[in-house]
Amino acid sequence: MNATSTPTPAVLILLGPPGAGKGTQARMLEQRFGMVQLSTGDLLRAAVAAGTEAGKAAKAVMEAGGLVSDDIVVAILRDRLAGPDCAKGVILDGFPRTTVQAEALDGLLASTGQKINAAISLEVDDAAMVDRISGRFTCGRCGEGYHDAFKPPMQSDICDNCGGTEMKRRADDNAATVSQRLEAYHAQTAPLIAYYGGQDVLRRIDAMGAIDAIAQDLAVIAKQATA
Ligand SMILES: [Zn+2]
Repeated sequence: MNATSTPTPAVLILLGPPGAGKGTQARMLEQRFGMVQLSTGDLLRAAVAAGTEAGKAAKAVMEAGGLVSDDIVVAILRDRLAGPDCAKGVILDGFPRTTVQAEALDGLLASTGQKINAAISLEVDDAAMVDRISGRFTCGRCGEGYHDAFKPPMQSDICDNCGGTEMKRRADDNAATVSQRLEAYHAQTAPLIAYYGGQDVLRRIDAMGAIDAIAQDLAVIAKQATA
């Protein structure tokens, strides 16, 4: 950056299916680069609580049981991006979800002199992901986590940690449900992947490896994209 340029906060978009570790990786980016993660749910809640114009509009829609329109979300995002805590950049999580929203976001960023620095796709192997998630269970007494294939207890159904014998499985961690979640994710995200691929800002990361390795790949991309 030269002395005359005006710093424009970086905008990263994080794409990844449930179970890919998006939340963990976003926190790493926050800690490492001072960026702020903005998820749609948090944005809406904060705007409603703050009673901004857009927040009031969102509140009225939600109270009527409706879906908050893209226009309102974009208005809320516009307010939020102006916040001093966003000066080092933001990580968008959950927005945009459609190409219409992506175009609206481009319009917003054009008006503030910003751009998408990178749309980062955390890529998973679906079959391996189903194995990983659907094998999870926890001890009902102490909460210790286990996995059928990767971390079985020493004695079947007895907790290594506390000796508890009541293991719990989340109903939505079964193979069929995980497959459905992944399919829904791909169906929803494919147009965005194409959209950002066309803009040459798409970056893909193998998200099946160790958390630290993924974080390292992500850090390299974030650094390049915001240089
Ligand atoms: Zn236990």
